[in-house]
Amino acid sequence: MNGLAELFSTLRDRLAELRAVLLCRRLRRSAAQAGVALVYHRVDGDRSGDASREILPALSGPAFARHVRHLKRNYRLVPASGLVDAVRNRRRGEPFPACITFDDDLAGHVRETLPILRREGVSATFFVGGVSLDGPRAFWWQDLQIVVDDRLLDALPHVADDDLLRALEREPKAIFRVAAAIEGLEPPQRTETAAVLRAAAGATADEGLRSNDIGRLLAAGCDIGFHTLRHEALPQLDDDALEAALREGRDRLETVTGRRLALVSYPHGKADERVAGAARTAGYDAGFTTGRSAVTASTDPLLVPRIPPALAPGKTALRIARAVASCTSQ
Ligand SMILES: [Zn+2]
Repeated sequence: MNGLAELFSTLRDRLAELRAVLLCRRLRRSAAQAGVALVYHRVDGDRSGDASREILPALSGPAFARHVRHLKRNYRLVPASGLVDAVRNRRRGEPFPACITFDDDLAGHVRETLPILRREGVSATFFVGGVSLDGPRAFWWQDLQIVVDDRLLDALPHVADDDLLRALEREPKAIFRVAAAIEGLEPPQRTETAAVLRAAAGATADEGLRSNDIGRLLAAGCDIGFHTLRHEALPQLDDDALEAALREGRDRLETVTGRRLALVSYPHGKADERVAGAARTAGYDAGFTTGRSAVTASTDPLLVPRIPPALAPGKTALRIARAVASCTSQ
């Protein structure tokens, strides 16, 4: 982006943030019992990634800090474990409750995110699977990104047909179709595909989180929830596999954290009534999905929607204010 285009883009985003602040102030006059949960993944560096070609583009540190300051000024930040209760107890005139959550075992949670949370005096809930307790282990979509970025397309034929491979040559956004195809595979095929991508990608893109990293998050007042060890899309699993996915690896993480893991966030943000029921049976108090809606008094605590932020702070602010607005107008 050239200098002038960048300036206009920044101005447009500041304007969006201003509109969000005004909307939020107006909404506060309502007695609506509503709140919002946000789901972040990677915070990294001084410039945000490219959402048009990256499966999980990084949000820059400065942009994340602005998100946090907007939330502090315009909402009441609460832990994810207390969000549904805070929503049910909200009174007219009070700020809407909000919580900040992170998914996946990423080194940046400690290296980049934690210093920002500390500086701003807020905490967050980190949903991890314990996948990298023993050493770096990449998620398949990180390896897929390397394979596509580095044009190592020979690794892809068994998940991408000729049309898709040609599309990848022409347009980087075809990566999202490949990712969807991999996500839709049966677990054994996906494990096989992940191994092929791993071998092709070479160096691991992210160091992940060891026990001492998780200890640092806890010591800073953050909470840890479970994100499952194998990161399967849970609605695709049969009952036995679903039950196993909600338990496998949880004991070990509970030993690492020294506390019960009472919260779960569903991999890929995907869950349905059956998954929520299984999570309830497995002893979780709350479960988190990904969606664009706000949390209300009638939200099932095992199906709490979380809004993914946009990379631009103002766009994110408007997105969450509009989610709250859609509850107040009912
Ligand atoms: Zn995840």
